[in-house]
Amino acid sequence: MQGIEEENGDGPVVTRTMTMNLEPGSEKSAIPRARQFDFDYDFIVIGSGFGGSVSALRLAEKGYRVAVMEMGRRWTPDNLPHSSWSIHRWIWRPNLGLRGFFNIQFFRHATIFHGCAVGGGSITYACTLLAPPEKVWGAGSWTGLANWKAEMPQHYEAATRMLGVTENKILGPADLLLKKAAEAAGIGHTFYCTKVGIFQPAGGQPGNQTFPDPFFGGAGPARTTCIGCGGCMMGCRYGAKNTLDLSYLYLAEKHGARIFPETRVMNVKPLDGVSDGANGYEVSTVKSTAFIRRQPQRFTCRGVVFSASSLGTMELLFHLKEKGSLPAISSQLGQHVRTNSESLIGARTPGYSQDVSQGIAIGSGIYIDEHTHIEAVRYPSGSDAMGFLTTILTDGRPGPQRIALWLKNVGMSMLRHPIKTVRVLQPLGWAREFVILLCMQALEGEIEMRWQRPWFWPFRKFLVSRGEKVPTYIPKANEFAQTLAQLTGGFPMSMLPEILFNVPGTAHCIGGCVIADSSTHGVVDSCHRVFNYKNMYICDGSVVAANLGVNPSLTITALAERAMSFIPPAAETDWNDNAGNDSAGNDAASVASHVSR
Ligand SMILES: Cc1cc2nc3c(=O)[nH]c(=O)nc-3n(C[C@H](O)[C@H](O)[C@H](O)COP(=O)(O)OP(=O)(O)OC[C@H]3O[C@@H](n4cnc5c(N)ncnc54)[C@H](O)[C@@H]3O)c2cc1C
Ligand code: SF4
Repeated sequence: MQGIEEENGDGPVVTRTMTMNLEPGSEKSAIPRARQFDFDYDFIVIGSGFGGSVSALRLAEKGYRVAVMEMGRRWTPDNLPHSSWSIHRWIWRPNLGLRGFFNIQFFRHATIFHGCAVGGGSITYACTLLAPPEKVWGAGSWTGLANWKAEMPQHYEAATRMLGVTENKILGPADLLLKKAAEAAGIGHTFYCTKVGIFQPAGGQPGNQTFPDPFFGGAGPARTTCIGCGGCMMGCRYGAKNTLDLSYLYLAEKHGARIFPETRVMNVKPLDGVSDGANGYEVSTVKSTAFIRRQPQRFTCRGVVFSASSLGTMELLFHLKEKGSLPAISSQLGQHVRTNSESLIGARTPGYSQDVSQGIAIGSGIYIDEHTHIEAVRYPSGSDAMGFLTTILTDGRPGPQRIALWLKNVGMSMLRHPIKTVRVLQPLGWAREFVILLCMQALEGEIEMRWQRPWFWPFRKFLVSRGEKVPTYIPKANEFAQTLAQLTGGFPMSMLPEILFNVPGTAHCIGGCVIADSSTHGVVDSCHRVFNYKNMYICDGSVVAANLGVNPSLTITALAERAMSFIPPAAETDWNDNAGNDSAGNDAASVASHVSR
């Protein structure tokens, strides 16, 4: 569990230049159009994932002066970990000295995995880039707010081009097993090769060949072709994965955007006491990887884009709403959080003749019914640390009965095949032997996040989850894992936390600041403008208002492309952009005075 600590007084605060330039006779607060300040930046983007990278590039292209504040580190092929045993370079928990790019947060309703790096989740993601079915635009609070079906294709097209999406041509043993198992289950026709953001070798060519920029007409970096090592989720050490630092962010920096790595935003408050942010904002940061000398800094800007991911943006906004920096953020903050109804299962075959870690991280998928979709996933050979979290497959309703059944299954297996059972339960060789099946359901189901003191740690507030539990047991998916295990002579497997705590794991947390018609129903309008503030936007997974049923990054990218398309070029802006259609009729000033009473 993580939270936002209060800014502490360790070290002097470096305040960036902020020059008053008042026009004669003007009131401080009466400057909707005239520029009274020289700001450090026109826009500060918080977070450099999918939404943040798109925002940085498109704003820089439009002539704005852009800074990107990113809590995570910058990664290159030279400093990426070789395997998941290199925990300090894999996991993000800076207070414990772990400064990797993979963050895990535990909640009552879900264990949420997400990225933390320059490039956000793209450094650790499996680069599957799928568009959701059209029906998602007719579900959730964004329904009817735009002609989504007509507007979105052009933005998906831009996102697809920028992220270099192609069909996977590198099918590894795990993909072929998925296909065989689908055929055995009578659903072979649903098998497909994933759409991925990977620079693949041309037909018949070997991987690991370097070419001048193949994606952006020479403006991008040189790239190397994929060797199918299965390492995408440990960070690509070959430069073949189309991560954001090689696309949007690379180009944004070329257009003058400045990226501040290891820089965590702690506060955003309107300047000069003008509560709706019409005079701009002050953004305070600390060095995220420092223990003691946290190097606090302050920057001024005219506009802010929150792109800290669904969890990161919720956490920051809850903190800022409560401490009074941004009190008028909608009380819908934290509502409609979705986890894509996921379950991780699989099959492990000790001593299997083939190395199932070969291929790309998610090479293929199938549909077991119209709502349920399974992808074949892998970690690279040697990355066996996740093996501690997997165990013998166990069906049944959550709770003590399922735990009892699991103990019985393990006991029976020990009696029948003692050596094999020990081999599947120990982690060594896990990645080479384990076909991970990621099961996602496009069914409605959401939780709520609140900002509370947990009973076991009453000293500070954290995000805590509330609501109906998302199911961790999807019977048809378990049946499918058994079919696949029969083909290899292996063991069907489940995730241990799902059995013990009835808590599903997900890498696809979305929502919490959803798009809606007013602050009564959401946090941003259909142009991603934060209700009750000026020149403030949210561009990340938190705005997604429906369960997508597919991996979300392409949609987050396309939505950010759309949001940025509404912002005029720098020379034409009047710096007065707000969610004018807030039918709830709230405004920052009235909410602020209510809060202060
Ligand atoms: C292992 C794994 C595999 C995945 N595979 C896929 C896949 O194949 N396909 C897919 O579509 N999706 C995948 N995802 C999900 C995908 O990574 C996310 O959906 C996506 O990255 C979300 O984009 P975003 O713009 O919302 O934020 P992110 O990409 O998460 O970026 C947010 C950034 O904000 C930074 N940040 C947070 N708070 C602050 C702060 N206070 N100050 C400064 N910076 C801050 C974070 O460090 C982070 O870098 C995967 C995720 C994981 C963990
Ligand atoms: S399979 Fe290996 S080389 Fe290919 S993109 Fe993934 S990590 Fe890079």
